[in-house]
Amino acid sequence: MKLLTRANTKTIKGKRRGFSTNILHLAPAKLSGYQVCGGASKECIKLCLNKAGRGKFDRTQQARIRKTKWFFESRLTFMAQLVKDVAAAMRYANRHNLVLAIRLNGTSDIPWESIKCGLFKNIMARFPNVQWYDYTKVAGRKNIPSNYHLTFSASESNQSQVTQALANGMNVAVVFDQIPDSYMGLPVIDGDEDDLRFLDPKGHIVGLKAKGPAVNATSTFIVRNSNASRSIRDFGQQPLQRFDHSTSLQNSRHSGSQHQGLAV
Ligand code: SF4
Repeated sequence: MKLLTRANTKTIKGKRRGFSTNILHLAPAKLSGYQVCGGASKECIKLCLNKAGRGKFDRTQQARIRKTKWFFESRLTFMAQLVKDVAAAMRYANRHNLVLAIRLNGTSDIPWESIKCGLFKNIMARFPNVQWYDYTKVAGRKNIPSNYHLTFSASESNQSQVTQALANGMNVAVVFDQIPDSYMGLPVIDGDEDDLRFLDPKGHIVGLKAKGPAVNATSTFIVRNSNASRSIRDFGQQPLQRFDHSTSLQNSRHSGSQHQGLAV
């Protein structure tokens, strides 16, 4: 069974900027019986994009569950298939003169930096020329490879981790009903433009518009426009310092490109 998929409206937008983006979708939270979202909140589980797009089909849901069980029950063969898929995705990207970017946590939150890949420490070390990226709700992930970019993801219950993530130099993705110009005293970029989070400038909030079941939800997971001018002090912290985060592979390759972003 193939693990990576390429076709996705959000990631296709990345092509315009010279990237071929591939995503791995697993079954989120404990849907498969195995926990893959260590930082999940009650509301994000309810509003997860797992059921969006192709996710609305039963066969897609079953495939995600099978892939997740495979990851936990036969790690070596799972990683061997992943390596095969990445190699195929690289061939495709090279043929089309695109740079390959891969997001392994399309609907999960696994610390891939800690998952061995054959003799390599992780898959980022196995494929150093690929730009890896993810969103995460797991605070304090350490030893992140230089070619793996993480954007922290806010929920209704992780405000203190949000301020910590910002202080540590990460951008933070927030779901809004309407994307504001600024939030928590920081400029907001439109994360729905594309999924190339590793090109985002530092010190920004990545605004994502509520989608799917989230559109009509009254959940506190979604920041309503009336709350969008909240300042950093609402989170009980001092104003943030701007950070000097490690330079991503793509930033160094595409130093002349404009920075923008897309959705979880
Ligand atoms: S929103 Fe993210 S963390 Fe929450 S359940 Fe879905 S994939 Fe997991």
